[in-house]
Amino acid sequence: MIVDVHCHLTDRVFEGRLEEVLEDARRAGVKILVTSGLGFEDSVKVLKISDYVTVYPSLGIMPYDIEGYRDVIDLIEENADKIVAIGEVGLDYHINVTVDRELQKKVFLEFIELSKSLDLPLIVHSRSAGKYALEMLLNNKAEKVIMHAFDGSSSHIEEPVKRGFFFSIPPSIARSNQKQKLVKKLPLENILIESDSPALSPTLGEVNTPSNARVSVMWISRLKEITIERVEEITSENAFKILRLRRV
Ligand SMILES: [Zn+2]
Repeated sequence: MIVDVHCHLTDRVFEGRLEEVLEDARRAGVKILVTSGLGFEDSVKVLKISDYVTVYPSLGIMPYDIEGYRDVIDLIEENADKIVAIGEVGLDYHINVTVDRELQKKVFLEFIELSKSLDLPLIVHSRSAGKYALEMLLNNKAEKVIMHAFDGSSSHIEEPVKRGFFFSIPPSIARSNQKQKLVKKLPLENILIESDSPALSPTLGEVNTPSNARVSVMWISRLKEITIERVEEITSENAFKILRLRRV
């Protein structure tokens, strides 16, 4: 069984065909999915489509579109006993992002503190800001962390690994030397599987689906020289450790 710890099932591309997408995922072995909200309205939708058997909710806001983040914090507090994580939240230092970095950090810090006070894990977005996001998480003593689609250097992961941070690996590993290198360096105890669908497809430009979480499993199996079954077993156990999921 595979647990997809991060995807976006509320995305417009899945509208009207969610049942079919989930059925495809199930056939590929992906039996539990965490769908992440991007902003207030999307987070409300995430709560609506979650069934707490196959689909679990996580609520957040993108650092490059941060307006209304206070409403997201309120929504998280109101639903703290229902959701399995806060996210995605984080930092985005990509060249096209215009949101002030100091403001991004201020908001991210609020989410880190919220995660500690509610004892909920963070699903962290850190595009072109991996080093800085990790620094903030370590300095502010974040405890439950999932670094999603980490695009930084594997030279920064030593301390986070020691502190028990998880790194979720997307299907784009198929075309990313950086992610292949990261997996080689990560202990199995710190690895999770994600699809990030509809983004981060194994083939550039294609719409990604949760069933492609399999691709991440295959690559990890190849790079770690262990069986696919073993990868599924360890990464699912890891997911159950950090997220409040029901056993199916
Ligand atoms: Zn995402």
